[in-house]
Formats: sequence, structure tokens, C-alpha cells
Amino acid sequence: MHNIDILQGLSGGEIVIYPPKNISEGFQSVNNIIVGNVVLYGATSGRAFFRGQTAERFCVRNSGVTAVSEGCGDHGCEYMTGGRVVILGLTGRNFAAGMSGGIAYIYDKTQVFAKKCNMESVSLNPLDLQEDLTFVKDLLAEFKGKTGSDVAAFILENWETERKCFVKVYPHEYRRVVEEKAADEAAEKLKKEQEMKDGLVNGEEDEKEYDEDMINTIEEDDEGESKVKPEAKKVVDIEDAIPDGEMNKKKLDKLRGFMKYPRSSNQYREVNTRQKDWKEIYNHKGVKAGLKVQAARCMECGVPFCQSDHGCPLSNIIPKWNDLVFKNNWKEALNQLLQTNNFPEFTGRVCPAPCEGACVLGINAPAVTIKNIECAIIDHAFEKGWIKPEPPVTRTGKTVAIVGSGPSGLAAAAQLNKAGHTVTVFERNDRVGGLMRYGIPTMKLGKDVVQRRVDLMEQEGIEFQCNVEVGKNMSAEDLMNKYDSVLLCLGATHPRDLPIPGRNLNGIHYAMSFLETWQKKQEGNDIEYAKMLAKDKDVVIIGGGDTGCDCIATSLRHGAKSITSFEILPPPPPSRAPNNPWPTWPKVFKMDYGHEEVELKFGRDPRIFNIKSTNFVDDGNGNVCGINTALVEWVKDDAGRWNMKDVEGSEKLIKCDMVMLAMGFLGPEKKIADELAAKLDARGNFQTPKNKYATSVPRLYAAGDCRRGQSLVVWAITEGRQAARQIDFDLMGHSSLAGPGGIVYQPED
Ligand SMILES: Cc1cc2nc3c(=O)[nH]c(=O)nc-3n(C[C@H](O)[C@H](O)[C@H](O)COP(=O)(O)OP(=O)(O)OC[C@H]3O[C@@H](n4cnc5c(N)ncnc54)[C@H](O)[C@@H]3O)c2cc1C
Ligand code: SF4
Repeated sequence: MHNIDILQGLSGGEIVIYPPKNISEGFQSVNNIIVGNVVLYGATSGRAFFRGQTAERFCVRNSGVTAVSEGCGDHGCEYMTGGRVVILGLTGRNFAAGMSGGIAYIYDKTQVFAKKCNMESVSLNPLDLQEDLTFVKDLLAEFKGKTGSDVAAFILENWETERKCFVKVYPHEYRRVVEEKAADEAAEKLKKEQEMKDGLVNGEEDEKEYDEDMINTIEEDDEGESKVKPEAKKVVDIEDAIPDGEMNKKKLDKLRGFMKYPRSSNQYREVNTRQKDWKEIYNHKGVKAGLKVQAARCMECGVPFCQSDHGCPLSNIIPKWNDLVFKNNWKEALNQLLQTNNFPEFTGRVCPAPCEGACVLGINAPAVTIKNIECAIIDHAFEKGWIKPEPPVTRTGKTVAIVGSGPSGLAAAAQLNKAGHTVTVFERNDRVGGLMRYGIPTMKLGKDVVQRRVDLMEQEGIEFQCNVEVGKNMSAEDLMNKYDSVLLCLGATHPRDLPIPGRNLNGIHYAMSFLETWQKKQEGNDIEYAKMLAKDKDVVIIGGGDTGCDCIATSLRHGAKSITSFEILPPPPPSRAPNNPWPTWPKVFKMDYGHEEVELKFGRDPRIFNIKSTNFVDDGNGNVCGINTALVEWVKDDAGRWNMKDVEGSEKLIKCDMVMLAMGFLGPEKKIADELAAKLDARGNFQTPKNKYATSVPRLYAAGDCRRGQSLVVWAITEGRQAARQIDFDLMGHSSLAGPGGIVYQPED
């Protein structure tokens, strides 16, 4: 069929078009056009199935039809405002231009779609939400049944692998509306939950609830100790009390939980609300309300990859505490968690959760929400008053100095103090916490959460000396003479520069100066910050990592006029590439919190990929007013190395009056290493033997970012814990501090 404009304005009913049934064997509908241009233009409702390609301008201005085809020509889904479209093959150029509603799902087997899509009003996402997976799979089954499509049959037969080839084309505007609606519904649900809780369970605390499906009916007494309750009174479980579809009808079933319950996607507060304040972005209340359901998704698989080398660096005993949360035994869950992690309230908030990347469920379904469960366990424990200072019973008489109070220094201090040593932490800044205090913004980690832990540690007997820069106010040599051991936890604070013409212009700052100044201002410091205010400015952030995203979110809250982020690398693929298989950390395209917020406010993802800065432009008064840029492409040379090549004719001047350099860090500052003649490795970090923490100088140790290079909070805590164990062993000849995974054995073992 090759009519132009067929089915224009379809407003109900169902159309099924397929090749003649007696067509010659070997005919491949996916490689042939079955209908002509402008099919389903302005259609408003109904269903349409095309076994074959649809030509140009397919579904333009569609506002409600559900359609499937095996490929389409240029300008597919242009100006679409509603409906669902599934394309099971190649698309033409300018797909989704001006699309403001509805969703398109593209089977992008050859990963070429991103180049053909017009990204101005849409973002591309992997197919990982359960509702999308179910919708596409069901529709394909229907399509296959009605048209006999080979390609649909192939995808369905190989669903677990092929579903990863789908890309979800999601208009920014539509997403905003969907999220606002979801937020309203969530607020309504929370309200109802509260009412139910007040009414149905008579205000009883949640650890007093129990589930009739429990293997042992466990409850906790006032001290949070769990005990088996033989004839417990039946109280309506809060999740069962929620008038929420399935949950209301069925009891939680952990045996098949991973098949029955979808992964929750309500981790964050609604974008439109959270971008207006500096509070944590997390939806703590909503997460906790559905936590048992999420814990029920853990399969307790025989080999829990979540705690393997690819998963949690702390080897958190994840399936164990998932199960305990499922059984409402929060106190025991806490005990298990604290065996391996001193500060779950930090990792539960800021960890990128490599555990979830390695979760066995992730092979063919969305992973368990491990990080949320971890955070809820510790937050619940603080709420209940279970976390109290626990000073050591005896002191060893040994003294340890720790330089730097980031997560590695704090973890080491907590462990060494627990072993009975007298610990002093020196910090050059005015407050304790390292990058968790002045780096990671309040939206990701509330400073009250950091201070709460520091206060506890002080009460346990750890001394903190702020405003002392070792190597400046106090010599490293003095420290070595005064203390039995010295542990350097200096961080990797030496920022990477961008030495291109114009670098010295006013208005160009290191990301950390920007973030630190603002966070000090938020803490109430009397500090000059006018130059670091992004209000009404056109902001460009160079560098697309975590730090860059935090600059984006901070600039947005300042009230920046525009925000653009440059990333020199290409965007990662929407799903795992063949060289990035499970259980390795998934390097896939993600929208972080700052990107989502900018997309909502300004209608576009702030990121430009494959872009390099050539020079900064002077406004004539020594201030930056723009950046000359060029697009680049990455090509492999004969030796298989990636090389960057300028794209001819892509040069562009991007206007800006504030620039943040967020291109990573080059290692620790060198003053202390120079003074003590400690050896550094090829990357400028303190050199230690593999998996050991002793430097080349006797009694001097190093841990965290200054040893392993710029990394993560979870790694810093891991290193701090293990360095403490080695120091304890070296001081005492034995150690009862835990090794990885909470196991106690001697460091030499
Ligand atoms: C903006 C930003 C956002 C980040 N977001 C995340 C995230 O979301 N999740 C995540 O897991 N990781 C994140 N990271 C990384 C994470 O913060 C670090 O990996 C972690 O803090 C490293 O811990 P550390 O203890 O080794 O060092 P740091 O946290 O860097 O602490 C080092 C401390 O040593 C002090 N110091 C240095 N030299 C001296 C001296 N001579 N005398 C006295 N004190 C000294 C410094 O002032 C500092 O307080 C982020 C990093 C940045 C910059
Ligand atoms: S610390 Fe990070 S990796 Fe480990 S369990 Fe928690 S979220 Fe997962």
C-alpha cells in the first residue's frame, strides 16, 4: 500500500496491515515499506499495526493512537502530543522534532538511533521501568499475533537480551506533567497512609507490626531487641492497610517477590518541588512506606554478586539485612549493617550503588533498591534513638594522628578508637567532614547528617582539631615525633586545570571553589561570596561528572539564567554495551538529579556531549563572556586506541559569564609527601603495596582518595577501615578489627 496520507486523523478502531500471506518465502517485511508518507497524521485514538516500514512523517501530530511498525522514514513522530509508538527497526532523520507528548519506543539494535533523533525536546532513556517493559512486551505479543511479524517474534523469544536494545523517547514536557501527577498521587497516598496508620493500627510503632506470612513472627521490644512472638495479636500491616491495588488484595510474598513486585521509582522528591529548596532530594518518607515490598524483591540468591568484588566495596551483607527488613527486624538489620559500614547514613544517600549494578536480578529485571534499604535502616535507628556513643571500655595507651577528616579519615578514626587507641584528627578546614562537608551539596547530603555523626564520634573520645593544616601550621615531622602512627587521609584535592587562551579571565572558577564557598555561606560563615553567585548568569560547567552535576544543581538553585554543561566524551549507550556486561558497573546513559531539574526548568538536558573548548572570550574588561567550542568525534586508530578528531564546520561560540571547571582531580597536594620524602606512585598518589596502607616511610600510612585517586565515599570508608586494621595490627601485633565483609582475621592472613 503506498497511498500518501492514509489513516490521517484516525479517531478510534483498529487497523492491521501486513503483507499478503502467500508472499514468497524469505520476504523480510522489516526491510520493505508497507505504507506511504504521513500515515496517522493528526490521529487522535485507536490502534494501528504495520508489519513493515512506514514511510516519512509517520505519526506526525499523533495525539492518542497506539501504533507499531517495523521501521519508519524521516521525521517520524514529529510534533506528536500523545499516544504510544513502537518502532521495531531503523528510523529516518529528525525523529521526534517538536515532540511534546506521548512516548516512542525504538528497537535500536544497531545503536544508531541517537544520531537520528532530534533531541531538543526529548531525552533518550533505557527501558528499565517495569510499566514500560510490560507495555512493550504485551504490545509486541499482540502485534505478532495480529501480523505474524518475524521481528516481533524474535524479540519476544529473546526478550531478556533484546529488551535492552529498546530506547524510550520521552518528551521533557510530557515527563514533567507525568511527574507532577505522580507527585500529587504520592502526596495523596502518603496522606491516606498516615490516616490509615492513625486509624487502623492505632498509632502503633511500625516495628510492632507483623506479617502473617512471616516464617517466624518477630517483633521488637522497647529496646529494639527482636524476639519470636508465639501468639501475636493480628494487627493490619501498614502496607496491607494502604488502599493500593495489588498490595491491598495480596499478602507480601518473598518467595516470588522479584516476579511480583516492580522496583519502586520514587527515590527522589518531585523535581519541581525539590529544585526550589536546598533540602535533601530524597523522598525518605515515600521510600520507607514501600520498603518491605522492595525488600521482598531480594531473591537471596546463592552467590550474592551485590557483595562481591563488582558490588559493594564494603562487602555489606546485603541479602541478610534485606531479609531482616522484610521481617520487620530492624534492630538486627542494623547490627548486620554496622558490622561492615561505620556510616550507612552517608553511603545510603550518596553512594552510586555499585551493589545494584551487580544485583543478580539486574540480569533480566530492574535491581533491588539496596541503597534505599540501607539508608532506611540507619535513619530508622537514629529516629528510634538506637545509635548512641560507644566509647571503648579500655584504652591501649597508643596514639594515632589522622590528617584529613573526610570519610576515610572518619572511618579510620572510628575503627582505631573502637580498638582503644587515642585518636586525634587534624583538619585544615573550619569544620569536619572533608568533601562530605564542603563539596557534596546539602541536596545530596544534609550537613546535619554529617554533624550528627561527628558529635557522636567526639562523645566516643575522638579529638578533632580544625583549622590546622599539617605541612603549614604544624610540620609533618612534629606529628611523626608526637604520635605512634600517622595516617594521611588528605583526599585528592589538586584540581585539573584547562590551560587554554583566556583562562585567566574573571568569572572562571574551579568547581570546588564554587561549591565550597556556597556551602560555607550556607553553614553561616561570614564569607565573601558575591563572585560565586550564579544568579542571572549564563553558566557553563566544563566536565560532566558528579562534581559537574552538583555545580548544575547549585547554579539552578541560585537562579542562573541558563545552564550548560560540556562533556568531551560521547554519551554512553542507553543500555549495557557488549563490553560492559553484568555484573560490572553499568556505563549507561543516566539523568542525574541536576540534569532532571534543568530539563524541567529550561526544557532541555543541560549536557552537550562530544564538545571541546578552544578558548575563553574576553568582554573587553577582563571578564569572560563566551567560550569558542568545536564538536569532536572519537575514532579508533589501528592500535585500537581512541583519538579525538574535530568535526569540520562545527565551531560555535557559546555565550556565558560564569564558568566552572569540573574536570576531576590530579591527586593529593604534595607538601607532606615532600617534607617526609614519602614515595608517590605514577599518578601522584601515596604509594603503598597493593591492598596495604603503609607508605614508604615507617609508621606513616595513607588511605582514601590520596592513596587510590579520586573515588567514592564508599571506597573512602572501605580504605579508612582497612588502614585502621593494619595500623592496629602493627601497633599491637594482632587486631580484632573487621576485614572486608565484617570478617575478623589478622591482616597477614
Ligand atoms: C563535588 C563532589 C561531589 C561528589 N559526590 C559524590 C557522591 O555523590 N558520591 C560519592 O560516593 N562520592 C562523591 N564524591 C567523591 C567523594 O566525596 C570522595 O571520594 C571522598 O570524599 C574521598 O574521601 P577522603 O576521605 O579520601 O578525602 P576528602 O573527603 O577529600 O577529605 C580530605 C580532607 O583532608 C583535608 N586535608 C587535606 N590536606 C590537609 C592537610 N595538609 N592538613 C589537614 N587537613 C588536610 C581536607 O581539607 C579534607 O577535609 C564527590 C566529590 C566531589 C568533589
Ligand atoms: S555502600 Fe553503596 S555499594 Fe555498598 S550496599 Fe550501600 S549503596 Fe550498595
